[in-house]
Amino acid sequence: MRRLTGLDGVFVLRHPDDAHALREAVSGRQHAVVIGGGYIGLEVAASLTKLGLRVDVIEMADRLLARVASPQISAFFAELHQSHEVGLHIGANCQEILQKDGAFTGVQLDDGSQIVAELLLVGIGVLPDLELAKSAGIMAGNGILVDAMMQSSVQDIFAIGDVALIDGAALRIESVDNAQMTAARAAAAICGLAQPAMTAPWFWSEQFDVRLQSAGIVPLASPDLRHQMRPGKREGGFSVWSYGDNGELAAVEAVRDPAGYMLGKKCLDLGLSPDLDDIGNCDFDLKAFVAAS
Ligand SMILES: Cc1cc2nc3c(=O)[nH]c(=O)nc-3n(C[C@H](O)[C@H](O)[C@H](O)COP(=O)(O)OP(=O)(O)OC[C@H]3O[C@@H](n4cnc5c(N)ncnc54)[C@H](O)[C@@H]3O)c2cc1C
Repeated sequence: MRRLTGLDGVFVLRHPDDAHALREAVSGRQHAVVIGGGYIGLEVAASLTKLGLRVDVIEMADRLLARVASPQISAFFAELHQSHEVGLHIGANCQEILQKDGAFTGVQLDDGSQIVAELLLVGIGVLPDLELAKSAGIMAGNGILVDAMMQSSVQDIFAIGDVALIDGAALRIESVDNAQMTAARAAAAICGLAQPAMTAPWFWSEQFDVRLQSAGIVPLASPDLRHQMRPGKREGGFSVWSYGDNGELAAVEAVRDPAGYMLGKKCLDLGLSPDLDDIGNCDFDLKAFVAAS
């Protein structure tokens, strides 16, 4: 776990109690800083803005959601937040956390500018705690290494959820769906039952009046990664279809477009990879394509 020691006015979100404490702290405060432009940071920025606070988000990467989303989705959420007057500081590093008498008073960025605020939410991700696993001689990298049945390197010891890293996978998946799916796989292995079918991991995020649904993993390390936008049926709705190095569909991210999400998820679950040009063509009948496959 990445820790920031306890100043008054500084929060992380790990447990429901953290969320309640943040909610209580909002009253009477006007300005918040969020460090981290990932899903948690952006969801908190949207919630605090809706509660009437002025919010500044500091992100050190060159775009929001850089670790998890396509550039098109990053750009969409940057515009969404800016349209609600969230201050975005992209490519910026927080050099110093400012305090007075044990209370948070603001941050200083690496360009020397200061942001004065009364609340700080730190959403910079987590590191898995691997001490227990390592002390048991279990192999670990950036997570406990497991096979497709969640079996670790030590017989009869399994790992599931956020902490598990499937051998060969580029990253650990941190989502409710993944926790449930990996639990089902481990349970089947322990009971000697058939493994549930592998399905594409999925995730959602709600910010302001927008719901994002995504399925699959955007293979951001792929040099030949290609993206295709597809307009949705609802006003303002669209989906982004990402294709990896092998030319196969790898992920679908849908904004205000549940139908696009459902069809994308089906394609991923069934191993279908519609042609990139077809996806960009509004007249292409994706539903019929999926039904026929
Ligand atoms: C603020 C926030 C928002 C999120 N929003 C979403 C979302 O919108 N959609 C989504 O899909 N996912 C979301 N997630 C991610 C999702 O919550 C996690 O992926 C999921 O909870 C992982 O489940 P888990 O069982 O692996 O780990 P956890 O839920 O972290 O549970 C692990 C438990 O094990 C306990 N534990 C740890 N070490 C030990 C030990 N040595 N002995 C005994 N107990 C131990 C911990 O205290 C904890 O209770 C969010 C996460 C956060 C923090």
